[in-house]
Amino acid sequence: MDNIKKEINNIREQLINYSSFSIVILVSPFIALSIVNVIKSGWHSMYILYFVEFFIISLLFLFRKKVSTIFKAHIIASLFIITGLLGNLFFSLSGGYFLCLIGIALITLFYGKINGIIYSLISLLGYILIEVLNNYGEIERNIDFNKFNNNFEAWINSIFTLMLMAVVLIFSISFFYDYFIGLITELNSKNKEMNKLNNDYQLALKKIEESEIKYKTIFQTLEEGIIITDPDGNIIDCNNASENLLEVSKEQLLHFNLHKQDWGFIKPDFTPLLKEECPGKKALDEGIPILNVETGYIREDKIKWLIISSAPLELDGYGVFLTFHDITEIKKQEEDRDVFNRNFEAFLDHITDFVYFKDKNSQLVFCSQSLAHVTGFNNWRDIIGKHDFEIFPHDDAQIYYEEEKTIIKERKPLLGKIDSFYDENGEKGYVQTNKWPLFNDNNDVIGIFGISRNITEQRKEKEILKEREEKISLLLNSTAEGIYGVDLSSNCTFANKSCVEILGFNSEEDFLGKNMHNLIHHSYENKTCMDVKSCKIFKAILKGEGIHADDEVFWKKDGTCFPVEYYSYPQIKNGEIIGAVITFTNITERKAIEKQLLKYAKDLKVLNSDKDKFIRILAHDLKSPFTSLIGFSELLLNNLNNLDVYTIKEYVSFINETSNKTFSLLEEILLWLNAQSGNLKFEPSKIEIQELISNIVSDLKLSAESKEISLVSNISEKIYANADTNMLRTILRNLISNAIKFTNYKGEIHINAETINNEIIITVSDNGIGISEDNIKIIFDPVQVNSRIGTGGEKGTGLGLSICKEFVEKHGGKIWIESQEFKGSDFKFTMPLSKD
Ligand code: ADP
Repeated sequence: MDNIKKEINNIREQLINYSSFSIVILVSPFIALSIVNVIKSGWHSMYILYFVEFFIISLLFLFRKKVSTIFKAHIIASLFIITGLLGNLFFSLSGGYFLCLIGIALITLFYGKINGIIYSLISLLGYILIEVLNNYGEIERNIDFNKFNNNFEAWINSIFTLMLMAVVLIFSISFFYDYFIGLITELNSKNKEMNKLNNDYQLALKKIEESEIKYKTIFQTLEEGIIITDPDGNIIDCNNASENLLEVSKEQLLHFNLHKQDWGFIKPDFTPLLKEECPGKKALDEGIPILNVETGYIREDKIKWLIISSAPLELDGYGVFLTFHDITEIKKQEEDRDVFNRNFEAFLDHITDFVYFKDKNSQLVFCSQSLAHVTGFNNWRDIIGKHDFEIFPHDDAQIYYEEEKTIIKERKPLLGKIDSFYDENGEKGYVQTNKWPLFNDNNDVIGIFGISRNITEQRKEKEILKEREEKISLLLNSTAEGIYGVDLSSNCTFANKSCVEILGFNSEEDFLGKNMHNLIHHSYENKTCMDVKSCKIFKAILKGEGIHADDEVFWKKDGTCFPVEYYSYPQIKNGEIIGAVITFTNITERKAIEKQLLKYAKDLKVLNSDKDKFIRILAHDLKSPFTSLIGFSELLLNNLNNLDVYTIKEYVSFINETSNKTFSLLEEILLWLNAQSGNLKFEPSKIEIQELISNIVSDLKLSAESKEISLVSNISEKIYANADTNMLRTILRNLISNAIKFTNYKGEIHINAETINNEIIITVSDNGIGISEDNIKIIFDPVQVNSRIGTGGEKGTGLGLSICKEFVEKHGGKIWIESQEFKGSDFKFTMPLSKD
């Protein structure tokens, strides 16, 4: 390279020298001419310039070896240009331009365009200046061509000079050109060669620098620790990673020697790694590579696991190099993976659900032991790689295959699908299946993962539960009682059909979630508000007690209430009260019946006591006649032979009369009892009242006449009653008999009948002894009434009016008395009018 540069400089030197020589030659005619002119015409200042120029060029040429090439080049180029300008100045010749061009060309050729341009500008400015000066007459051209044409000597000089200049120029240029071309060509080739060499050199240098940077960068940035030793085992270089991995600074490491250093390494089985076994020392000792030695490096109670390799470095001054990297994390991951794999295998071995992983073709990758078992295989590894078609019935496998194809295609999971299957005993069961697509890092589906849970038992239980629920529901809805459930806040949890109906709502939905106390149990019967704290149901829920009540009301949707009987029992779940179930019935009817029953009971009690009293009276009434009968009959029996016929007749007559009266009494008692018990036949028919009364009056006429009582029936029109003949006859006979009995001699009895609306009012009126107000109140009560003796000494039973009352009421009528003591009595009763 330097040689080429030298050579180029030599060429330049020579070229410059030749150029200066050419100028000396070119300028020589001027000098000669100038000398001639000085001799001939005298001294002229311009000649000094020529001589100086000539002198400089000559000096330059003479001392060419002592002056620097660049200086010479500038001087020569300047002289060419000055010569050109002078030529133009003196002769106005184009040769001046040519010389300037040569100067410019020379400087451009050797020292570049910038110098060439500078010189060109100087030349141009020079010429412009000369022309301007010339035009303004500031300078004069030395040659006037008019004069010149007339001056032969000038012609000769000029032609000679020009010819000489032309020859020299042509010769010089031609010589220079050839030489110059040769030099240029050589220079070019040398330049090219030099450039190429230079480029190659620069390239090589760059590569070396790059590779050094690369090496250094790699060396320093490698995660792999690198240590280099000399042949004696001294560490001579290490990278950053080795400092970090060994947790020792570079300065310290550079003091270590592999033969001496005890690193405290351990083997994977935690036994110490002897110094001789350390890879660096071993490679150094044995001169062979020792590769991938797993070593534990103990630092501050922590073990860092390294993989160390070492190999001899076949370079002068080097021993071995060591490389090592940290595998602690990898080792931990491997251990974790081992643990995971072990656990996962245990999971697959023991999980009762059917777990399976399949590839894109639905072939098993791995699966749970339970799946192997149910498909008749001993070990899940035996069915790896198999297709569902090889382990399940074809139809089932087809279903599974289709659904997996869909999962893979749509990249979406299949969740909660129920499939049937046959277990290892061939019994049909059900599984609930969830399957998900499996993706790789590129989010491509690579298979599926599925879990199928055997839900046969749950399904059975569910069915049983459903059946039970249906039964309960049926039971609840078929019972007449209203039933509803509430939670701890009295909000409804369920209600049966009867509950809805009894309370007048539309459906169970009207109750669900609503507060039942506020809805149906908010008030008492008298409409005062029932606070929830006073609500027995609510209190019972809180206490967890069962309660019963039948003295409250429930309120219906329409705002009415009804008496209710309810039972509330706590609902307990896992030992905790969660609410209550209330059963209720509408007891409106029962309450009415109860009320009635109470009245009956009360009446019955009175009746019973009355009956006791009545029976006692009857017993007493019956005892008297029988005492008489027994007394007279004994008297007769004991004294029959001693008594005369008249006395006997008197006694017998008395016995007969007493017997008849007693019989009458018994008959009346019997009649009354029959009437009371309802055994008496009641057969109403159309009865003409007047006729019936006439018959009775006729029967009783003798009795009335015996007391000279006028017995008058005042009924003129025909009135028809719808009545039982026997009963009506009994009533009338009783009332008329009583009127006769309790009317004084020569009294009057009137019988009337009138119709008002649909009733007949019959009146038996007398002007007898009358009845006190107190007696009127009790007169129809056989128990209370005291039978009075008639005005003619007639005895009675005290039952007659009671029988009358019974019979009248049997006809739906009523009987009453209007009487004044000592003035008489009106006995009135109603009978239904016959409608025919
Ligand atoms: P008995 O006439 O057999 O005593 P009744 O039941 O027929 O029984 O009459 C009950 C009583 O009612 C009579 O004892 C009598 O005191 C009173 N009584 C009934 N009819 C009359 C009447 N027309 N005038 C006054 N007292 C009467």
